Amino acid sequence: MRGAVLYGPRDVRIDERPDPSIIEATDAVIRLSATCVCGSDLWPYRGLNAASDPAPMVIGSFAASDNTCPHCLAGYQTSCAHRQWVVGAQAPFLRVPMADGTLVATQDLPSANQIPSFLAVSDVLGTGWFAADAANVKPGATVVVVGDGAVGLLGVLSAKQLGAERIIAMSRHQARQTLARAFGATDIVSERGDEGVARIKELTKGVGADSVLECVGTQESMAQAIHATRPGGSISYVGVPHGVELAGAELIQLVQSGTINPGKVFDLELPLEQVAEGYRAMDERRAIKTLLRP
Ligand SMILES: [Zn+2]
Repeated sequence: MRGAVLYGPRDVRIDERPDPSIIEATDAVIRLSATCVCGSDLWPYRGLNAASDPAPMVIGSFAASDNTCPHCLAGYQTSCAHRQWVVGAQAPFLRVPMADGTLVATQDLPSANQIPSFLAVSDVLGTGWFAADAANVKPGATVVVVGDGAVGLLGVLSAKQLGAERIIAMSRHQARQTLARAFGATDIVSERGDEGVARIKELTKGVGADSVLECVGTQESMAQAIHATRPGGSISYVGVPHGVELAGAELIQLVQSGTINPGKVFDLELPLEQVAEGYRAMDERRAIKTLLRP
């Protein structure tokens, strides 16, 4: 089959790869209707993690899990006692270990317009939801989201679902501001650093936010998050992507019923053969997130 392979910094190509096959009795081989470029794929792409040999790229549920061990039962499938990393999902077919514990079947065959949203559930929505949950977002809360990447935008959506009354999104980009508003942001702050904090203090009458989601991962954004939080408030920190997954079944329900449409974060769709352009567009911030069709 033809799949994405990273040869070196900024060098992703579609290349011949062996067809996946069943190795363990608990494996499944699935056909992918859609796949995507993950924010964390940009780290090896930019050469920040050394790629010594050509490496197939990773997306989706980063970790396969049995869903039966104590860590899985506590909702931390990414720390499964039998965890295996899933690799090579930017391809038409994929081997998934521990398929019963890792894969969730949808009720029906999803319609074409539901596919981007289900894809987001397997990828950034879990992280965005975790950010809102870890920042202790409660009904009626005032929330600040630092960062307008796909995780930050879905942090806005998640805060809205968890009942936040006021959601202040920090973004300087018009298209991302528009999407943040569509996901439930009530205010946009385009200033950064001290000016950004001053603007948030102004909007919250000097109090600060109950919950702040830090979705960038730089020193500046962390300082901004800390100073935007009211005394006793909560901050979550998901700037470094770590693919936490939780509430998978509930999130799938929310998509199935049309309550949320997280697939809107995919603002670029390309055939898998053009994966290199998909990476470039995200690297250069021309695209929020790239959906690929095998
Ligand atoms: Zn487990």
